[in-house]
Amino acid sequence: MAGSVLLPKPCLMRLPHYYRRLMKAIHEGQSIISSEELGEEAGVPAAQARKDLSYLGEFGRPGVGYDVYELAAHLEKVLGLNEPKKAILIGVGNLGRALASYPGFARYRLQITAAFDVDPSKIGQRIGSIPVLPLEELETFVRQRAVRMAILAVPAPQAQSIADRLSAAGIRLIWNFAPVSLRVPEGVKVFNEDLAARLATLSF
Ligand code: NAD
Repeated sequence: MAGSVLLPKPCLMRLPHYYRRLMKAIHEGQSIISSEELGEEAGVPAAQARKDLSYLGEFGRPGVGYDVYELAAHLEKVLGLNEPKKAILIGVGNLGRALASYPGFARYRLQITAAFDVDPSKIGQRIGSIPVLPLEELETFVRQRAVRMAILAVPAPQAQSIADRLSAAGIRLIWNFAPVSLRVPEGVKVFNEDLAARLATLSF
């Protein structure tokens, strides 16, 4: 179901914000939510929130609002949040360690099954339940466990060669934190994460 609805990218980027607001509403026992409240979470006016959600189908009643549970369940389907996703992490430095320790990914059914590094002092360690394995085991692990997603947190000069190996092993989605533009074969998607670039737009 994930990805089966065609959405404009800005709208897609706002859906997790709506979902996060819905989770807060559920936590607080709220059963109906307004487009104002949803829009506020995503930083857009209520009309934009209503437009975004109209892409998903007929939800909400004018003058009443959205059923929190119904909308949350639908967003979970659209965003694929109810499907478990296995990922591996490459690079267990400051950033990699923080990502591997973050409990919030579980809410999105993302499970980091193993981490890989070249530093002998890190290999054999565990970050919580995640084992740190030698890079030589990368391809075998990906193939045997049918992992399709990788989180890349290695220094920039190493990122391309790792991306090549990941693509050849069968990884189809790379969540790339290294500040480098990766070249990947057709069928592999790269999602770049760059906090510094975001900061630059924020400063502007
Ligand atoms: P770090 O130096 O603390 O850690 C890098 C880790 O990668 C080390 O454990 C090192 O042993 C390992 N490594 C090096 N070469 C490797 C290889 N070929 N295969 C596997 N592991 C290898 O660096 P960091 O601060 O954790 O940053 C990691 C990357 O993330 C860098 O590229 C950095 O620029 C980037 N970064 C991005 C953001 C962002 O917002 N996107 C934020 C912080 C850092």
